[in-house]
Amino acid sequence: MPLPATWYDGESSRARAVRLGCAQGMLQLAFDDAETRQWPLESVAINPRLGRTPRILRLPDGARVEVADSPELEAWFQGAGGRIEGFADWLERRRGAIIASAALVLAATLLFLRFGMPWLAREVAERMPPAIERHASDQVVAMLERIHFKPSQVPAARRASLDRRFRALVAGEPRSAGMRLSIVRAPGIGPNAFALPDGRIFVTDELIGLAETDEEVLAVLAHEAGHHVHRHGMRGALESSSVFVIAGLLFGDASGSSLAVSIPATLLISGFSRGYEREADAYAFELLLRRGQSPKAFASMMRRLSAGVPKGLEQGAVGYLSTHPPSPERIAAAERAAAARR
Ligand SMILES: [Zn+2]
Repeated sequence: MPLPATWYDGESSRARAVRLGCAQGMLQLAFDDAETRQWPLESVAINPRLGRTPRILRLPDGARVEVADSPELEAWFQGAGGRIEGFADWLERRRGAIIASAALVLAATLLFLRFGMPWLAREVAERMPPAIERHASDQVVAMLERIHFKPSQVPAARRASLDRRFRALVAGEPRSAGMRLSIVRAPGIGPNAFALPDGRIFVTDELIGLAETDEEVLAVLAHEAGHHVHRHGMRGALESSSVFVIAGLLFGDASGSSLAVSIPATLLISGFSRGYEREADAYAFELLLRRGQSPKAFASMMRRLSAGVPKGLEQGAVGYLSTHPPSPERIAAAERAAAARR
């Protein structure tokens, strides 16, 4: 069964109608004007099947034949032992492979979000200009001052003592130069403490009021210092911001203006991942031990926080419990750290 095809001389665009046949390993061309030619099949190159696109045969004399794909063609050339199946064609005829590759792309994307994004966020956070850390922190503070912060009612002497002890606690620690303690009253937030990307660490009167000793407050502050040392604020904000914002910082938008807009919101709403909490805890226990203080204070503070907020204190939307979920594991870890000291 001859196949209708179109022949090109390989130099001009002039086309001739031709019929293709095959006999004894020879490709036979029969032109309309009765001229015939033939070539050994193994001397003819055929392009791989690509969906429903026409097949192109390249003849040894430089001419070219275009022919609709057909099972005959496949049979002729396979008989000649040619490897003619292309990868795209292979894919086309194997939906399973296509679905598998889609799944692969999805898996790669999820892996990127799970591991690549945190890595990228850390890399970017470590290169973040201090001006951007400050700017983002300023915005958070401005927002909190407008809505929540009131002047502290903790006696000035106790505040001064906490400040002094906090500075002694973190003296010489990495990134400690930026750390500043602020004590504020925040009835709408309740007992809480948090670190901003530029190193400002806030603790509320409400948390201090809940603590039995200043050691318990300092244990919480050590944990917050851990967030600052590990740049959790900026990393968390970067991770929860879009990939595009990071891409903008890497590839040009160095002003970080879009970032400055998105960071304050994420800092406030999202708390930290369990991984960050564990990292900050570990840092805090180690720091307390180095300063001769017991991580037990952290465990007792956590217990007090999880026992619930006493009457008269309002548990706000961004309370310590929502941003630092206390858990039996964290309390146990603090007690293990304390026990290991002896
Ligand atoms: Zn924390």
